[in-house]
Amino acid sequence: MTSPTETDVDLLIIGAGPAGLYGAYYAGFRGFSVAIMDSLIEPGGQVAAMYPEKDIFDVAGFPVIKGQHLVDNLVEQAGQFHPTYLLGHRAEEMDLFDDRVEVTSHKGATVTCKAVVITGGIGTFTPRPLPDADDWEGRGLQYFVPKLDVMADKDVLIVGGGDSAFDWALNLRGIARSLTIVHRRDRFRAHETTVKEVMASDVEVLTFHEVARINGAEHIESVEVFDNRTDERRTIPCQAVVAALGFTADLGPLKKWGLEQDKRQIVVDTAMQTNLHRVFAAGDITTYDGKVKLISVGFGEAATAVNNAVPLIDPDQGVFPGHSSDRK
Ligand SMILES: Cc1cc2nc3c(=O)[nH]c(=O)nc-3n(C[C@H](O)[C@H](O)[C@H](O)COP(=O)(O)OP(=O)(O)OC[C@H]3O[C@@H](n4cnc5c(N)ncnc54)[C@H](O)[C@@H]3O)c2cc1C
Repeated sequence: MTSPTETDVDLLIIGAGPAGLYGAYYAGFRGFSVAIMDSLIEPGGQVAAMYPEKDIFDVAGFPVIKGQHLVDNLVEQAGQFHPTYLLGHRAEEMDLFDDRVEVTSHKGATVTCKAVVITGGIGTFTPRPLPDADDWEGRGLQYFVPKLDVMADKDVLIVGGGDSAFDWALNLRGIARSLTIVHRRDRFRAHETTVKEVMASDVEVLTFHEVARINGAEHIESVEVFDNRTDERRTIPCQAVVAALGFTADLGPLKKWGLEQDKRQIVVDTAMQTNLHRVFAAGDITTYDGKVKLISVGFGEAATAVNNAVPLIDPDQGVFPGHSSDRK
């Protein structure tokens, strides 16, 4: 998707996670033009990038919903108002003026707007790399599993001992031909019940093992692992490696924008207003007394942020949006 280099909208949302997407809906509902910028190339934030196939049980109104399904619904809900997406653009600079804000991405796209809502979550997140394996990315090595069916009939080796590693293993049962988890210790950070479920399944779990090297020609064909206590080696045939070693998250450029921060979060008041005029924030990126980082909380904060930005965008309109059920 190509992005415009200059965009003029009423509201800019930085971060296309659940909070940002829901904020975009509200901006449209209030009759405003909106742009959404995200450094990732797909909308959905942590949900789409880290657990698209997981069931989520605590989104209001949905007893259970898959991560990607929730994201698709949010995109559709916001889509009624035709937001402009700038995906693959990291917000790099922000300039404040009396009557507007200008935000420029690392690719040089500039958005001029009357207010900004920052929904940057945990910042731009990048997976911790599997050492010496760069060359294999796109040739069988993955850090996310955006679609489970790409693993169909493959022998899959998962590296890691946290929730992601164990969740992928459970989700890929019945899809992958075989599953092996390789972890360098015998203790896991994953949830105890998930670990028990995996241990009771046909997933092979190799503790005290690490990846020595990946073998193959065009594509991964096998992985050599070693026991880090004895140095004993074995080769596991596999066509896919999922490196689930966690993520590093960084607020990056947002740190330099003069926003009041507390422990890598943006301090907001009850209107989700930051210390900067015309700049609001919502979702995981905000902090205040009693903050709970959940999707449902982010939704509420996004609605509060956008509606409180409304009088700055159009002084003739108030904060309260009216009821959507009154819409004709
Ligand atoms: C494995 C896992 C399971 C979870 N399960 C649940 C659950 O069951 N229920 C629940 O409520 N919560 C769950 N969460 C937490 C939930 O995903 C987060 O609370 C939610 O994603 C926060 O939404 P957000 O929109 O605030 O931020 P995010 O989802 O983090 O999205 C922020 C977006 O901002 C972008 N961004 C950051 N900085 C910039 C920048 N400078 N320029 C452009 N874009 C930028 C990022 O790329 C990202 O796409 C889970 C999290 C994980 C990791």
